[in-house]
Amino acid sequence: MADIITKTDQGLQVPDEPVIPFIEGDGTGPDIWAASVRVFDAAVDKAYDGGKRIVWKEVLAGQKAYDEVGDWLPEDTVEAFRSHLVGIKGPLTTPVGEGIRSLNVALRQILDLYVCLRPVRWFTGVPSPVRHPEHVDMIIFRENTEDVYAGKELMAGSEEAKRLLEFLRDAYGWDIRADSGLGIKPVSETGSKRLIRAALQLAVDQHRRSVTLVHKGNIMKYTEGAFRRWGYDLVRDEFADKAVSWEDCGGDPGDKVLVQDVIADAMLQQVLTRAQEYDVIATMNLNGDYISDALAAQIGGIGIAPGGNINYESGHSIFEATHGTAPKYAGQDKVNPGSVILSGEMMLRRMGWDEAADRVVTGLEAAIADKIVTYDFARQTEGATQVKTSEFADAMIERM
Ligand code: NAP
Repeated sequence: MADIITKTDQGLQVPDEPVIPFIEGDGTGPDIWAASVRVFDAAVDKAYDGGKRIVWKEVLAGQKAYDEVGDWLPEDTVEAFRSHLVGIKGPLTTPVGEGIRSLNVALRQILDLYVCLRPVRWFTGVPSPVRHPEHVDMIIFRENTEDVYAGKELMAGSEEAKRLLEFLRDAYGWDIRADSGLGIKPVSETGSKRLIRAALQLAVDQHRRSVTLVHKGNIMKYTEGAFRRWGYDLVRDEFADKAVSWEDCGGDPGDKVLVQDVIADAMLQQVLTRAQEYDVIATMNLNGDYISDALAAQIGGIGIAPGGNINYESGHSIFEATHGTAPKYAGQDKVNPGSVILSGEMMLRRMGWDEAADRVVTGLEAAIADKIVTYDFARQTEGATQVKTSEFADAMIERM
């Protein structure tokens, strides 16, 4: 019987017929969703021989919501994600000049989805601009609620900016140029530790080799530098029997997870030149944004990069495409559904439905290995058969 997913001290409780809310998304979203949902249903059906199924519940957001109910992010939608715990979404148009900075950011903040989880690994056959894309196998934990993304900004010349400049001059003697815009970069011990704790826990649970704290603490000592220090404190205080910092083990962690740190700019070089040395990455909001896209490019680009926004304590999570709505291709049944499909694969794993998630991966790998791909990969793959979004889903389902 259809039921909702709940959370207890033992973790998520997933019934055999969970109701899962989805937002199909704007622009190319409907094409991608139509293909993706068929892949998910087929994977679940094949994995459990009809013993489990997902009951999809559409909720509105973005352009479709605005057109139908006059609201970009209706309360019903937020409530559905709140009460059903696990959900998935396609890309959404960001309204211009409507007061909402971004619907994605709004959803993350309302549900306090503090981890942006982005696994980045290469699938055999995917065209890549680097020589060894197979060296990339990382899981990025990007902090989702703080940093300069918290949106605490004042426009240059505004009354508020003038007042703050005056205060900073009078109270701290800070002489900041009068025509400056100002932004506040909050990085808290609470926010940093819960993000790093989630990264360490996953590294321990999945027997990963290392966790790398990526920061710019040499320059921003009390924000990014503090993130690094809180990370190492956490290793000693809460994970001493399972993880060890580089300093405390001289680079030889034995059977524990190694925790190290790298300056953000150096990290962008390292992921290109020595990708195989990195595993789980924990970082703040802005660094995480840059690193995720740089890594996504190495393994085939945004058509295939998945993401999940998670609060491990409340159990809330929304999985989502990391690309936008690509409006110029809307309604053409043309773009790559890989990003939403792999976001769904992450969702299935979060639900503990690993057998279905494995089917999704098998189908994707096999279709790509047979060079059956959408336009974005076809233009970089010699001898490829270019197919539509829906046909790519067919090819995956046949090969599960
Ligand atoms: P975009 O929609 O990501 O598209 C940029 C380019 O990326 C496309 O022209 C296409 O490149 C490629 N691309 C995107 N999705 C693809 C797919 N599924 N398969 C293959 N290639 C794909 O970025 P944008 O044009 O800057 O943004 C459009 C709208 O999306 C804006 O309203 C923006 O605010 C919104 N947005 C939403 C999200 C979200 O909901 N998560 C994220 C980012 C942006 P080629 O033309 O080279 O083939």
